[in-house]
Amino acid sequence: MRIFDPHIHMTSRTTDDYRAMYDSGVRALVEPSFWLGQPRTSPESFFDYFDALLGWEPFRAAQYGIAHHCTLALNPKEANDPRCTPVLDELPRYLVKDGVVAVGEIGYDSMTPAEDTALAAQLQLAADHGLPALVHTPHRDKLSGLRRTIDVVRESALAPDRVLLDHLNETTVKDAAESGSWLGFSIYPDTKMDEDRMVAVLKEHGTEKVLVNSAADWGNSDPLKTRKVGDAMLAAGFGADDVDQVLWRNPVAFYGLSGRLQLDVPEPEALHEGNSILRGGE
Ligand SMILES: [Zn+2]
Repeated sequence: MRIFDPHIHMTSRTTDDYRAMYDSGVRALVEPSFWLGQPRTSPESFFDYFDALLGWEPFRAAQYGIAHHCTLALNPKEANDPRCTPVLDELPRYLVKDGVVAVGEIGYDSMTPAEDTALAAQLQLAADHGLPALVHTPHRDKLSGLRRTIDVVRESALAPDRVLLDHLNETTVKDAAESGSWLGFSIYPDTKMDEDRMVAVLKEHGTEKVLVNSAADWGNSDPLKTRKVGDAMLAAGFGADDVDQVLWRNPVAFYGLSGRLQLDVPEPEALHEGNSILRGGE
């Protein structure tokens, strides 16, 4: 089973996770920039983080045979902090870089006016740079949040079929599908979607334009959830081709809209800016 995890925060994960993901079939992933939990106090800490997603993390992934790409943005939560919003002015110089395959994750957290501004501005940036957008839908008030998100996308310069609406569930999949966007589902260990609920959605809705991700991060999460969904699909009677469509071809098609996907894993470099994962040891 070949797997592309279209949303996982490897910065927060260990090399054991990389090894286990490879052993489960993961050969490619996209790491969206996100909120790190600890509030950032200046744009500069975003820039170091963006550089890590373009440098150190692809270096680390390559050591384990996995192709790494990223999406960059001012995340919805920190869009509310005026210390962080100047990031928007500097994003254009990052969005031209080869490893960036979308603008994201953007969207709504608490649906504030500041989030409106950041979402609209970043959909425009995606359109300007020929990139698709990864749009997070809120964890609270899911359906109203999704509908407002769809309205903002419709008013933007970015076509709905260049948008991936993420963190969907049974209550939001119908509206999301009707909008013409790609459909993302984050599978978590004990909250929100699990693999059995995901299989039920796939039975009802089909596999077209559906992407499944682990969204694994610094919280309770599981970087092998993509594989577990593939196994659950097979156990429920889906064929290997259906699994391949959801876990590989759909994410390749969506992020391929950037024209920047490089699925051949590069020969691992010995060092990144003079450093290795051996912490200086030989
Ligand atoms: Zn995320």
